[in-house]
Amino acid sequence: MTVATKAENLNPWQVALSQLDRVAKKMNLDPNVLEVLSHPKRELHVSIPIRMDDGKIKTFKGYRVQHNLGRGPAKGGIRYHPDVSIDEVKALAMWMTWKCAVVGIPYGGAKGGVICNPKELSQGELERITRRFTSEISVIIGPEKDIPAPDVYTNPQTMAWIMDTYSMIKGYSVPGVVTGKPIEIGGSYGRNEATARGCMFTIQKAAEELGWGCLKGKTVAVQGFGNAGSIAARLLEGEGCKVVAVTDSKGGIYNEAGLDIKSVIKHKEETGSVTGFKNSKPMPNEEVLTLAVDVLVPAALENVITRENAAKVKAKIVAEAANGPTTPEADDILFKNGVMVIPDILANAGGVTVSYFEWVQDLQAHFWTEEEVNNRLKQIMYRSFADVLNIHKEYKCDMRTAAYILAVGRVAKAINLRSIWP
Ligand code: NAD
Repeated sequence: MTVATKAENLNPWQVALSQLDRVAKKMNLDPNVLEVLSHPKRELHVSIPIRMDDGKIKTFKGYRVQHNLGRGPAKGGIRYHPDVSIDEVKALAMWMTWKCAVVGIPYGGAKGGVICNPKELSQGELERITRRFTSEISVIIGPEKDIPAPDVYTNPQTMAWIMDTYSMIKGYSVPGVVTGKPIEIGGSYGRNEATARGCMFTIQKAAEELGWGCLKGKTVAVQGFGNAGSIAARLLEGEGCKVVAVTDSKGGIYNEAGLDIKSVIKHKEETGSVTGFKNSKPMPNEEVLTLAVDVLVPAALENVITRENAAKVKAKIVAEAANGPTTPEADDILFKNGVMVIPDILANAGGVTVSYFEWVQDLQAHFWTEEEVNNRLKQIMYRSFADVLNIHKEYKCDMRTAAYILAVGRVAKAINLRSIWP
């Protein structure tokens, strides 16, 4: 008799809760703290009616979730995507709580999302969605309350619209309400590259740990070619790596001898996709994950490394530039196979770290040079990697569990010190 195996649960909120449960057991977390952390503090659901270019009104749905504010105001990006759901936003908000704690910056976690397909919207429609969404969530955001940032399919222009709308509501300029803004209106040098640069710093440290010395000559595959993926590819190429494959939502490209990343970026800017790039072979999107490379950088969406393909991953380092690309079952398989996974809450924490720098600069109205920003980022990423690595060795656990032990421990301390009121 064959026994049907239970389908892998890919609901992001269930994945996030199961990661928390696992670590709670491992670190004997106080059940009362676990109870608090298993629920987002606030969820705001909003309707966003806007006038489309054809004159008709269409209503979009949006969310802002604040997971935990124990360590400071909430921080997290805003995502525009047709697959946004409340469970995805809740999971992403919880991951932000851990991410801020791992790198030791004084924020709690939040996330926002609007269900829409930016590829089918004009700039005018996107601006109206952004402004109306900002107005709807303005009751819970603010520089001392909750500070949004870019995420999938939102960018510095989106942040400029949010900053302007919030400032119009207040009647004065409030640059500290969002990060990831253009430099001209209070953005920080280095913010645009920060997620990828932070990811590159963690890959450098992982390579040292694996005894590689440096990254020169190492092969890399990148899934997703947006802000995180394309810049990670460029920075890793700058470290002497051979980036042999990259993909985006339309497909992938491969060149055994290494792709010229600056030219691929230009090609994507001109054509809207990496596909069709000269000197490359087309490659199906899923294949990028199982290529024989040294470093794999998932930089697109969640749940791409699952129990179905985890055993086929050949990379020795998986650096999660994306949030939630690996399922818990896949994690176990990768750990068993000796793959070093640099978990999302560490690998992509460079973005929120420089967002924090941007917020600090906005509040002080005093701005740093790009060199200062990058040096401070490097210090934080190297220190955080070392903190996680120490726990990984002490507990003999995978790097994700180690990062969670560090993060959940820090949040738990804050909750216990503040205690539950009343
Ligand atoms: P982005 O919108 O700039 O780029 C997303 C990229 O993913 C695009 O190239 C798109 O074509 C590609 N993509 C979408 N669906 C795909 C699919 N099915 N297969 C392959 N590629 C696909 O977004 P981003 O800001 O680069 O974010 C990417 C990931 O990094 C997300 O998980 C995000 O949460 C995470 N992240 C981003 C930041 C940041 O500062 N931008 C910070 C932390 C984490």
